[in-house]
Amino acid sequence: MNKYYISTRDANIKINAKQAIIKGFSDDKGLFVLPHLSENKVDLPTLIKKDYQGMAAEVLRILLPDFSNEEIDQCLHNAYDHSFSDDRITPIKDVDNFHVLELFHGPTSAFKDVGLQLLPELMRTALTPEQRVMILAATSGDTGTAALAGFKDTDQMGISVFFPDGGVSPIQKQQMLTTKGANTNVAAIDGNFDDAQTNVKQIFNDADLKAKLGSNISLSSANSINIGRLIPQIVYYFNAYKQLVANQQVELGQPVSFTVPTGNFGDVLAGYYAKMLGLPVEKLVVACNSNKVLADFFENGVYDRNRPFFKTVAPSMDIQISSNFERLLFYKSGEDSSAIKALMDQLETSGKYQVSPELLASIQADFECGYSDDAQIEASIKEVFERDHYLMDPHTASGYSVMRAAQAKHPETPMVLLSTASPYKFVDAVADAVMGHHEANAIDTTKALFDFTRVAVPENLAKVWSLPEDQAPVIEPDQMAEFVYERSMEVFKNHD
Ligand SMILES: *Cc1c(COP(=O)(O)O)cnc(C)c1O
Repeated sequence: MNKYYISTRDANIKINAKQAIIKGFSDDKGLFVLPHLSENKVDLPTLIKKDYQGMAAEVLRILLPDFSNEEIDQCLHNAYDHSFSDDRITPIKDVDNFHVLELFHGPTSAFKDVGLQLLPELMRTALTPEQRVMILAATSGDTGTAALAGFKDTDQMGISVFFPDGGVSPIQKQQMLTTKGANTNVAAIDGNFDDAQTNVKQIFNDADLKAKLGSNISLSSANSINIGRLIPQIVYYFNAYKQLVANQQVELGQPVSFTVPTGNFGDVLAGYYAKMLGLPVEKLVVACNSNKVLADFFENGVYDRNRPFFKTVAPSMDIQISSNFERLLFYKSGEDSSAIKALMDQLETSGKYQVSPELLASIQADFECGYSDDAQIEASIKEVFERDHYLMDPHTASGYSVMRAAQAKHPETPMVLLSTASPYKFVDAVADAVMGHHEANAIDTTKALFDFTRVAVPENLAKVWSLPEDQAPVIEPDQMAEFVYERSMEVFKNHD
């Protein structure tokens, strides 16, 4: 079995999983991948007899070959034994003639909790006693919130989150300001999400800052480019299948399809990893919002980010560069790292690239893609609520009409729609869809939505408004590096 990760852009860069998790991404800007992954298969009949943590252990043993069994078990228990409100971690619900896989029962009510509860455990296990890591995250809302919850008060690690001032929902801002860990730091940026993101990337390459921090303090990423966040997400595809078999809705071995609301391509890529490891998957259906770079790619093989950017009702999918798509291109090109480097260089210089017809066909064999604009998203929320009394958040709802189109083509294949957030995280759009209006503030809208739908509000969101909050300083993008330095000194001041 192959034990080393390589860069998608350079097969000569080889490191083990522990180092890959600490670094986040490769110095050549490539992403870490395990070659020949599909040579490893799980034993499906045995796997689906286990509980969530047990299934996760099998998957992690394949993808994290330098972690011991004891280390893996310990990480999984710390991450999942107490922090999810449902014992199944990701429960499946039957709605009409499809199934919804609910990924939002973690501490911040978004699917990113599944990865971000486990990543800190894996990272701490990978660190030597002298090492310290400051995690940096630019966020449009969900990543920052879930990352703060995951890294709060962990040993040897700190976290700094940057969000666009005025650019996240009131609930997300309240969640971030009330996390309050000894090692958590939050700043609002006088700029948009791209300004925050661009500066975080520059900080990773800032030689002056690295010299000032010294050799024991490194910087890393909590984004889904980190394999330590991607790998945990593979498990819930197996967990969905396990529940469908247990409920006698699927026979062991029968293929199923999954529809996945997509931004950075991490969630749906994890489904492809599950397929490579032996899960019977017919199609992975990629759903976009009006930022439909991927939907256009599936039409003509051209990935082109030169286009207007839309702020939609599904903001966590407002993305023009789906970073993890690079990993899919790597596997689908026959692991040709020089071809991937050429494509990514083109993306950087001209904002676009085109793949060969063979590569496009190979991707289309496993994936389909479509999109929903804001009007379609709200119509889907209303339709499903009125017919099935099931309340979807706008991200989940972006998948609904795309899923229906896929079901029309393969009516006999069981279909699972991944639900990526609680509807109570995005109350304005959900209230507009089902009630025709929302209230002046999020607290009142939440109450009105509950009174109208009688769908329970997750406990963490119900109590977030009554927690004491910190202030987040508002800083200019060019002050971010200084902020990271000062907070690192503060968090790690006793480190030697
Ligand atoms: C992050 C996020 C997505 C997109 O997931 P990717 O892994 O980036 O494709 C979809 N929905 C919600 C609610 C999210 O927070």
